[in-house]
Amino acid sequence: MNPVIALVGRPNVGKSTLFNRLTRSRDAIVADYAGLTRDRHYGNGKLGNKPFTVIDTGGISGNEQGIDAAMAEQSLLAIDEADIVFFMVDARAGLTPADEAIANHLRMNQKKTWLVVNKSDGTQEEIATAEFWTMGLGDPVAIAAEHGRNVTQLIEHVLEPYPELDDESLHPELNVDQGIRIGIVGRPNVGKSTLVNRMLGEERVVVYDQAGTTRDAIEIPFERRGKPYVLVDTAGIRRRKNVSEAAEKFSIIKTLDAIKQCHVAIVVLDARTGLVEQDMHLLDYVLESGRALVLAVNKWDGLESDVKEKMRAELKRRLGFTDYADMHFISALHGTGVGDLYTSVNSAFKSATSRWSTNRLTTLLQDAITEHQPPLVRGRRIKPRMAHQGGTNPPIIVVHGNQVDALPDAYKRFLINTFRKVLKVRGTPIRFEFRTND
Ligand code: GDP
Ligand code: GDP
Repeated sequence: MNPVIALVGRPNVGKSTLFNRLTRSRDAIVADYAGLTRDRHYGNGKLGNKPFTVIDTGGISGNEQGIDAAMAEQSLLAIDEADIVFFMVDARAGLTPADEAIANHLRMNQKKTWLVVNKSDGTQEEIATAEFWTMGLGDPVAIAAEHGRNVTQLIEHVLEPYPELDDESLHPELNVDQGIRIGIVGRPNVGKSTLVNRMLGEERVVVYDQAGTTRDAIEIPFERRGKPYVLVDTAGIRRRKNVSEAAEKFSIIKTLDAIKQCHVAIVVLDARTGLVEQDMHLLDYVLESGRALVLAVNKWDGLESDVKEKMRAELKRRLGFTDYADMHFISALHGTGVGDLYTSVNSAFKSATSRWSTNRLTTLLQDAITEHQPPLVRGRRIKPRMAHQGGTNPPIIVVHGNQVDALPDAYKRFLINTFRKVLKVRGTPIRFEFRTND
């Protein structure tokens, strides 16, 4: 389990600036999911071999209506889920009553809290932090999120008690010995635990009862038709036996972990409610993680045909960015369509872990270029020359040539689509890197 850092503070102190700095992906990657709006509050970061998760709590204003009213439920949940809280204040604005109100609340919370004084650029550290000593939240640390001042040092310090991870823990997707790992994710009530029960069969539930903490996703090995799998469960099928446990809180951290731990994520959607924002965020996390994806539109039983039509149209319109993934209309309750999920899981995994020779990829690239010439850039013809595979799970294709990084997006998309089609890759994102070498 990665340490989880929650960024807390009133609006405008620089939370999202710090969030972006900590979670910005360093990989130069053109992913093929254009059109998806990015508005995330959970992200992963890494310092050396120490991964961590950051939550931008966003909505705490700490204003006159009292801290409890002002704290959005999500923010409280985020603090609850966190191991470490960065309480952020603004060196330029100085100490405000809203800061005091939030500080009072944090003092009641037993979480390890760091007082982070942002926007210290242009000031000496001692001067920036001077007035915040009085808050009684320990030594204030001066940073400038926008310029990166002191940010790495702060994270190094904060992560000191946490161990470095080995490659296997850093990349659970590399472990394929126990079989394909299937993550079942979705917002509350879409039918995850019903589906997990259905996939495992009744006997397994008993075995499962022993395990489980509230924040960890749970791994359940099982076999189907002689083939091993591991189910990574976030819903907690224990609930099925004891209805009073049904109020167990939905944990986004647990969901993010399950996504990281699986090879193929089955994202469960609810045909009765249609798509909501939380579904889009979950899909965004799956895409960002590079995991293979299967969509399960649940509760398809007993719907009128016009409702089905409307739902199909909505999914088509809003989920264009996941059109590489198979979509199943299922009823977890009755078991309809559930067996078919395995077909998609197997083929998505196969695609995600495929390997192609440099020869094959380069020939494919040359064919694509012959079919459709790259454009001129500043009077010169861009020449992609060679392609090789830079990784699997998700597959990474590296294209070399002169000025290839200057290829227009439309042309890059053409290449990506061509590779996807010719290599018959389904169910997994493909990532492309364009490396100019001239
Ligand atoms: P949030 O509402 O707490 O998420 O705050 P934002 O991250 O949106 O930042 C609010 C404003 O402060 C933006 O205009 C940022 O550019 C600015 N800002 C953030 N970090 C710094 C910093 O380190 N120095 C300065 N001078 N401005 C910053
Ligand atoms: P979770 O919170 O995602 O684990 O959802 P549950 O599995 O607890 O299901 C939430 C509710 O939806 C329960 O009342 C289930 O009986 C119901 N449900 C789950 N799957 C289906 C389905 O396929 N069809 C119908 N009609 N209801 C379902």
